[in-house]
Amino acid sequence: MEHTITKILVANRGEIALRVMRTAREMGIKTVAIYSEADRRAPHVMFADQAVCIGPAPSANSYLKGDEIIRISASLGVDAIHPGYGFLSENADFARNVEAAGIIFIGPRPHAIEIMGDKLSAKAAVENFDVPLVPGTEGEVKDVSEALLLAHDIGFPVMIKASAGGGGKGMRIVHNPEEFASQMQRAVSEATNSFGNGAVFVEKYIQNPRHIEIQVLADEYGNVVHLFERECSIQRRHQKVIEEAPSVILTPELRAAMGAAAVSVAKACNYRGAGTVEFIFEPGGKFYFLEMNTRLQVEHPVTEQITGKDLVKEQINIAKGKVLSFTQEELSIQGHSIEVRVYAEDAVANFMPGTGVLKEYRRPQGLGVRVDDGLEQGMEVSIYYDPMIAKLITFAPTRDEAIARMKRAISEYRISGVQTTLDFAQYVMNHDAFVSGKFDTHFVQNYFTPESLIPENESLEALGAAALVSMLQENKASQKTVINEKPSRWKSNRG
Ligand code: ADP
Ligand code: ADP
Ligand code: MG
Repeated sequence: MEHTITKILVANRGEIALRVMRTAREMGIKTVAIYSEADRRAPHVMFADQAVCIGPAPSANSYLKGDEIIRISASLGVDAIHPGYGFLSENADFARNVEAAGIIFIGPRPHAIEIMGDKLSAKAAVENFDVPLVPGTEGEVKDVSEALLLAHDIGFPVMIKASAGGGGKGMRIVHNPEEFASQMQRAVSEATNSFGNGAVFVEKYIQNPRHIEIQVLADEYGNVVHLFERECSIQRRHQKVIEEAPSVILTPELRAAMGAAAVSVAKACNYRGAGTVEFIFEPGGKFYFLEMNTRLQVEHPVTEQITGKDLVKEQINIAKGKVLSFTQEELSIQGHSIEVRVYAEDAVANFMPGTGVLKEYRRPQGLGVRVDDGLEQGMEVSIYYDPMIAKLITFAPTRDEAIARMKRAISEYRISGVQTTLDFAQYVMNHDAFVSGKFDTHFVQNYFTPESLIPENESLEALGAAALVSMLQENKASQKTVINEKPSRWKSNRG
């Protein structure tokens, strides 16, 4: 059955709220923003056709107030709610309450959110669907000595994971049996405190892996396609900072195999909408299912760039009850896309999140550059929300060109008032391991030190005055060819 959607409330803030509203407007759909007192002048509020203040800054008093959001939607004649990512997006009860109020939830069925929201039930659900799983315990482990025996069978190093974990939290690597008991006790208490659910399990710690995930789309009628992969191995704290599509290491055969596995995962939970199936990829080509994220993902733009599909438009059409308008065979990869997450974090201080007012904020432009953000100059990156300022995305016919374009776009970006991860991203773009494609999830650990970002001039000083003078003279001699090159803040890693 097809439903009409004429007005959407976006239950989110920042770049993703704006992202969703842009597509809604292109589809002729009216938009409603909700906002906290801290976000009064935010771009997502200015963009929307209607906006409602929902409470004070803390998310618990604003963006997480599900019942209030449903009440507002009903009173404004909203047909559908888009939850974005984070906040209520993976809250099955919220999805259920939305539908009970006669409003469309733009996302999967509550049942699928529930199954995939828990790593153990997710693994159990896909077991009979020919999806490779990381070798590990069958289910929750409770008894430490029993768990240790299982860990021996799996083989060290192992990972103890919180079943309810997310956002890179609730994971512990255990290298030898002696530390197992204490690590497991800590994992259980951390999981209890952070997620209100102490269930943990043990799985093999895959060495030097890559994180490769597959975008899927499923309609109401069981048609499922995949939109290829995203490579998300550049991480800090088990969280992504740079993503790209396609991945340099996937052969067409591996791509097809991972795509088929992802489609199976979606079928295993009777999925509907846009979702992401995450895999851990072992050197040599073996891959294992990690988890499924039942929402639009932060890094979805790189998939849009290489497939030409608007994922939010697809989500809305699926929510309307439309049949998928294309088949797997009709999808193909064009070009290459890279996304840099611009966080208000100090890469030199172990990526510590920062806050402050954006004194200067000028985004890059030009061919093949896309900036998804939700702040303007003069606005504040506050303690209340995620410290992501923007997503800088480039697109080009080849990977080398997408990297060159990213370097150019980063050099054009002007942000002052807060530390950002832009310098770090520039360092990655210049690094041989990234450029050659030979990297894994330990890139930051293996190659990045605070010294990596020391301005070139300072490192020259360290060489001593005489050397400095002679180098400056050399530089001068070659300056005709580099008229406009600004001093770089990162040190080249080459040589
Ligand atoms: P991705 O979309 O690539 O998985 P993240 O892992 O950074 O990106 O998560 C997206 C958003 O969801 C972020 O705002 C993050 O803080 C939030 N998030 C993810 N999982 C959880 C969780 N279990 N609890 C709270 N927030 C979460
Ligand atoms: P989250 O719900 O926090 O996103 P994931 O299971 O998706 O948790 O794992 C997040 C990251 O942790 C992965 O991208 C990867 O870098 C690392 N990781 C997770 N499981 C393993 C494993 N078994 N072996 C090695 N690394 C892992
Ligand atoms: Mg994950």
